[in-house]
Amino acid sequence: MKMYEVAIIGAGPAGASAALLTAKAGKKTVFFDHGKSMTARAWVENHYGVEGIEGPALLEIGQNQATKFGAELKKEDVTDIQANGEGYTVYTEEGTYEAKHIILATGALTQLAEKVEVETTDGSEPRINKVVKVDAAGKTNKKNIWAAGTVAGVSVHTIITAGDGARVAINVISEINGERYVDHDVLQK
Ligand SMILES: Cc1cc2nc3c(=O)[nH]c(=O)nc-3n(C[C@H](O)[C@H](O)[C@H](O)COP(=O)(O)OP(=O)(O)OC[C@H]3O[C@@H](n4cnc5c(N)ncnc54)[C@H](O)[C@@H]3O)c2cc1C
Repeated sequence: MKMYEVAIIGAGPAGASAALLTAKAGKKTVFFDHGKSMTARAWVENHYGVEGIEGPALLEIGQNQATKFGAELKKEDVTDIQANGEGYTVYTEEGTYEAKHIILATGALTQLAEKVEVETTDGSEPRINKVVKVDAAGKTNKKNIWAAGTVAGVSVHTIITAGDGARVAINVISEINGERYVDHDVLQK
């Protein structure tokens, strides 16, 4: 069975942004989505660097950026995650996947986190009741399970959730590499 280095649950701004960074860093990445992003209902005019954009278009661009660098997008519902010797097994109705690190980017949905006994706490953002408890790096109480975006308690704005996905991805890559990672491309003149 193929072992991914990173499996990301959620392909909204947080999840797709994380998948873009991990895939572009050469980490074998799979990301999942069951099509319930709150961003699909947004008209976004406050995302730095992007003129007004419809939520569905922002979602699609983000997912395409990640798949361009080799991240595998599975439009499947993740029903469970179980520890196995080396890492984790991710279960969907369509199959199972093995991964070393997991990033939860499930938006306002905490059912999966609760099912896999990741610690949660009360949300502090408007209309967000419950979030996953994380440390400053984005780590949860479970080894190699991280969380980013709305589900990790950040402010519910695309620029912030996408930024948090990228921040946590950099921390995961740095942990795998054993040194701080930077992803800079230089403008060719
Ligand atoms: C009506 C509305 C208007 C908004 N307008 C703006 C705005 O103008 N500007 C702004 O900055 N923000 C706006 N937002 C907020 C914006 O959508 C959020 O800030 C943010 O982008 C959420 O990103 P996320 O990745 O954390 O969550 P989401 O975008 O919700 O993505 C989470 C993804 O995880 C997937 N998922 C969850 N559980 C599973 C599972 N078990 N298996 C597979 N997939 C799973 C879901 O299908 C979903 O696609 C708006 C939100 C709403 C609802």
